[in-house]
Amino acid sequence: MSVNIISRSAWGARPWNGTPNSVSLSHRTEFFVHYDGGHPVGRTGNAVPKAIESVHINQGWSGVGYNFVIDQAGNIYEGRGWNLQGAHCPGHNVSGIGVQIAIGGDQEPSDKALAACRALYDEACRKTGRTLAKKGHKDGFATACPGPKLYAWVKAGMPAGDYDAPSTPAPEKPASWDGKSFPGASAFKLGQSHPAVTVLGQRLVAHGYGRFYKEGPGPRFTEADKDAVQAFQKAQGWTGSDADGYPGSSTWSRLMAAPKAASKPAPAKPKSTIVALNSAVKPGAKHAQVKELQQLLIKAGYGPIPGAPSTYYGPETQKAVARFHNKNVHLRSAGKSYDPAIGKHGFVELQKEAGRK
Ligand SMILES: [Zn+2]
Repeated sequence: MSVNIISRSAWGARPWNGTPNSVSLSHRTEFFVHYDGGHPVGRTGNAVPKAIESVHINQGWSGVGYNFVIDQAGNIYEGRGWNLQGAHCPGHNVSGIGVQIAIGGDQEPSDKALAACRALYDEACRKTGRTLAKKGHKDGFATACPGPKLYAWVKAGMPAGDYDAPSTPAPEKPASWDGKSFPGASAFKLGQSHPAVTVLGQRLVAHGYGRFYKEGPGPRFTEADKDAVQAFQKAQGWTGSDADGYPGSSTWSRLMAAPKAASKPAPAKPKSTIVALNSAVKPGAKHAQVKELQQLLIKAGYGPIPGAPSTYYGPETQKAVARFHNKNVHLRSAGKSYDPAIGKHGFVELQKEAGRK
């Protein structure tokens, strides 16, 4: 079963409200299942992601917070997709791919929805080249989500009835390859998978050729790998068939060696965008920087903040700050179990969590 994903443009998504952060597939280690909760979901088709989108945009998010949404017919709708940071589970939005199965609290998930979710999980493992941890929202956050039925299904290993898992399993090391030495030219054939291709890609990235990868590197040898290899070979001063984009043993041994500092263009040191907290920004106060605080909290996954953005550091903003502190207990004021004041260290860390450098 291949995974057919209905793109944002196909279901009629609104433009992003702001710019969600990008996340490389190499950071994904978990797969979170969510439900809609509440009342049974009677919507069908594009109305399903559109309803979620309008709720999430109204609470100040960029758009649908899940990476994908699945309806009872088994349709898969693109939210943040594979490469954007979600807003579905604080603390797990980078590592976790979040998928909502659009059912209410007591609603029975359909076989088609479960099969689609399982197919998406298998695809996520294939794309990342690893076995992602299967989780329900409540494994990462105190919540009833994804409800008893979906949670039991996740804990049972996400069985998908008569649905057959794709025959491309997570890459396994052939006994003949030790994980280090040159695996032979046959490991590098366009479109074919070999664990050495993942290592190849990782070494190319280490040597400064990550720009060739839009996603991955992964176990399948793609044009991106070939282009990166070729650029690396040319940088060695090689030409012709020595720079054909297919790694031989010389290419391999040079890639496995530590990158030469001099051969890497020195990256321009990015100017820090971290700013200091104004001392007037306190619970109950009004200050222009409160808006920035709210936006950072929402971006880092501690929303929603009803009423945001506003200059008022009110109860909803304070609750979001407390959620941040519950996740970052070391930043909470000593002796407090509920800390609504962000504090200057907390404000710096929050900016980092929201993607600032
Ligand atoms: Zn959830």
